[in-house]
Amino acid sequence: MLKKDLEKIVGGLSKPSKMPGPAYNLPAYKCITGQKLAQVKGSVCYGCYALKGRYRFKPVKSAMERRLEALQHPGWVDAMIQLIKPHKEFRWHDSGDLQSLEHLQNIFRVCRSTPGTKHWLPTREAQILKRVKVNEVPRNLVIRFSSHMVDQGPVSFWPWTSTVTTDGQHSCPSSKQGNKCLDCRACWDRDIRNISYGKH
Ligand code: SF4
Repeated sequence: MLKKDLEKIVGGLSKPSKMPGPAYNLPAYKCITGQKLAQVKGSVCYGCYALKGRYRFKPVKSAMERRLEALQHPGWVDAMIQLIKPHKEFRWHDSGDLQSLEHLQNIFRVCRSTPGTKHWLPTREAQILKRVKVNEVPRNLVIRFSSHMVDQGPVSFWPWTSTVTTDGQHSCPSSKQGNKCLDCRACWDRDIRNISYGKH
């Protein structure tokens, strides 16, 4: 199948300027937990970047809507495999989050069939994550559970986590390198248990 036909099935990939590879995004206003957290002052979703700026432009919004709808397409897994295969790193959800256990299991299928790609998936969906066993997660996928509140420590129920801090001690170097990952691949590295990001 041609690349343009594969892109039609999944609604295309996204290309965040920070990342070394492509990503996939969904509308942030469809985040099950995130849309509630966005109303809570002091939460990591309060003032969410994916609810403003370029994410509100009509073409960007329509593309995310198409991707959300595409999750139900019977050819979604196979098309994602073909599109992701050529890339060394892939980020799930630069906007949006897991929608269901079935959605996560489809992502597992994509990861298993793209062994040459490292995948990183941040999530705030504890109720979905608690339904999978850590050893079910494909070896080339790091799922990081993001703590809900700014300056909250990492959760203990999941081995890979991320936090947001205001103490200036964050481990993510992107703010010192033009808001880009450049050579850093810490988020994709299973040996790094927690990544802390500076509060924007
Ligand atoms: S920790 Fe590294 S890989 Fe993760 S977002 Fe920051 S710069 Fe990118």
